[in-house]
Amino acid sequence: MQLVFATNNRNKLKEVQALVLEPIQLLSLEDIDCLEDIPETQLTIEGNAIQKIEYLKKHYNIDGFADDTGLEVKALHGEPGVFSARYAGDQRNAQDNMDKLLKNLEGKTNRSAQFKTVIALTLKGQLHTFTGICKGTILTEKRGDQGFGYDPIFQPEGYEQTFAEMDLALKNQIGHRGKAIKQLVQFLNKK
Ligand code: IMP
Repeated sequence: MQLVFATNNRNKLKEVQALVLEPIQLLSLEDIDCLEDIPETQLTIEGNAIQKIEYLKKHYNIDGFADDTGLEVKALHGEPGVFSARYAGDQRNAQDNMDKLLKNLEGKTNRSAQFKTVIALTLKGQLHTFTGICKGTILTEKRGDQGFGYDPIFQPEGYEQTFAEMDLALKNQIGHRGKAIKQLVQFLNKK
């Protein structure tokens, strides 16, 4: 069975392929000659993941899955959420995004937040979704230089390090994306 993973990130694809049992072959967007920007215009993380995979189903007639992730901050009523990538503008700059978030949290005592990943899968005409959540706290300054995005200011619950100070294997084990992927893989391997 072939499934498209709506990504052009070969590392992401390889990582998930390694977890999926042999009869399932994962294809990237490039593999199916999808070179256009897939629309992501919904107002929720779940909505965007579903929009991406339904677009592929409609235009390429292939089953597969898409992921979407956002950082939801309690004191900011769930912001930046679905706008995480371009919180500080269309330049999608991680430093600018973190600076804006730190500024918006100045003086707030509640610094709870969570990363949320939703994976939407279409398979044999059915839509399935899988959600992974990682709860934590937004620090007042950046720490660490690994990872990407908001990692230097996010400290997952139960750990002293930020995601940016953490080993990638540990981040994958306790992180939002890893949790969602685990559910997807369990589901696929039962098929
Ligand atoms: P995407 O849906 O995976 O492209 O994620 C959207 C945005 O959320 C990214 O551009 C980052 O700003 C942020 N983000 C997603 N995953 C992570 C993560 O694991 N660590 C830090 N930031 C992340």
